[in-house]
Amino acid sequence: MLFSIKARGRLNYARKSVCLRFPPIPRQNIHHFMIMFLHVSLIQLAGKIDLTDLPTEQLVQSTQSLSEYGSLIRGLIKLQRQARKSGKKDTPGPGPGGNLTSFKGGMSVLTDTLTAELGSRVRLNSAVDHISSVGGQYALHFEEGPDEEFDALVLACPAYSQARMLRELAPGIAERISSIPYPAVAVVCLGYDRGRIGNSMDGFGFLVPSREKKGILGTVADSNVFPDRAPEDSVLLRTLVGGARVPHLAELPDDQLLDMVFQDLKDIMGVNFDPEFISIYRHEKAIPQYLVGHAERLKAIEADLKNHPRLVLTGNAFRGVSLNDCVLNALKTAESLTGSGGAMIQ
Ligand SMILES: Cc1cc2nc3c(=O)[nH]c(=O)nc-3n(C[C@H](O)[C@H](O)[C@H](O)COP(=O)(O)OP(=O)(O)OC[C@H]3O[C@@H](n4cnc5c(N)ncnc54)[C@H](O)[C@@H]3O)c2cc1C
Repeated sequence: MLFSIKARGRLNYARKSVCLRFPPIPRQNIHHFMIMFLHVSLIQLAGKIDLTDLPTEQLVQSTQSLSEYGSLIRGLIKLQRQARKSGKKDTPGPGPGGNLTSFKGGMSVLTDTLTAELGSRVRLNSAVDHISSVGGQYALHFEEGPDEEFDALVLACPAYSQARMLRELAPGIAERISSIPYPAVAVVCLGYDRGRIGNSMDGFGFLVPSREKKGILGTVADSNVFPDRAPEDSVLLRTLVGGARVPHLAELPDDQLLDMVFQDLKDIMGVNFDPEFISIYRHEKAIPQYLVGHAERLKAIEADLKNHPRLVLTGNAFRGVSLNDCVLNALKTAESLTGSGGAMIQ
């Protein structure tokens, strides 16, 4: 079952936690990385999230920063103590921390508000086909409508769109970013009568480690996390299917997709009756994956961008996929544009 650690595993984990040392970190994939450094029980402990799906670079970076303490666990304990002393509530741990956050009314509040504030300066529903250089300016060629010229550009669309836009202006950069994969994800939203579902979904939801051999990646109890997302007498569950682990499952026809989700929710949460509400959202290209070599790719793109000092690439394809990362990187981009400027990738 999820999040469980067997007694023997605990013992092994405790023993390993004392003696894990840090040999040099190899440039391999996450699977090799984990086998080299961690006992399987440690993976299970951290199994609140499927570590095989964590961006390799992210894990390597955070583990490298812990390695200065001599062992993973010692590092985590020291960081937790430091955080407690400084009065921080979110102490570091082996799994992801933080809260799920959104706007009342959903994420579109962000873009709707920006649109309202910026007024006619925003051109909506206009896909850029490609970019060229015209008299020292960047010309945007839209799929429909007139071209426009700008002194500087910030591209914040997905990597595959950036690659398409840059195919003539910067073919080298376009080629590098076009290889960032975006596996498909299907989001299955199910609404249940609160009286029937009882207390089985009291928490924020769950993530399923790959060793559980389930079709679904996890389920968020949206109505618990965001109380305004469902009527009071209902529970809204949002289940994710597909991703890097099993992208083909995101493409199942609706009936097969639903059968699989119902079966997994029954096995995991004991939900064995039909929902009152069903809505399926399909993301053919969902979340960019930072595979082995991502850091090198970023460095190469940064070097290429020196030839395009007024072109900035940002968005979730480069330095963090969470919304928090995207907002942080947007702020950094704005700061660097209003400051010294120069070639960069945020
Ligand atoms: C199913 C799913 C669930 C997620 N859940 C979470 C979560 O719970 N928490 C979390 O932190 N993150 C989550 N994420 C990740 C997070 O939502 C994204 O990483 C983040 O929203 C990406 O923001 P962005 O601005 O980089 O890209 P986007 O929000 O994708 O914006 C890109 C924009 O570029 C535009 N565009 C594309 N092509 C062109 C073109 N040719 N011309 C002009 N415009 C173009 C698009 O229309 C779009 O408006 C989830 C992602 C998915 C897919």
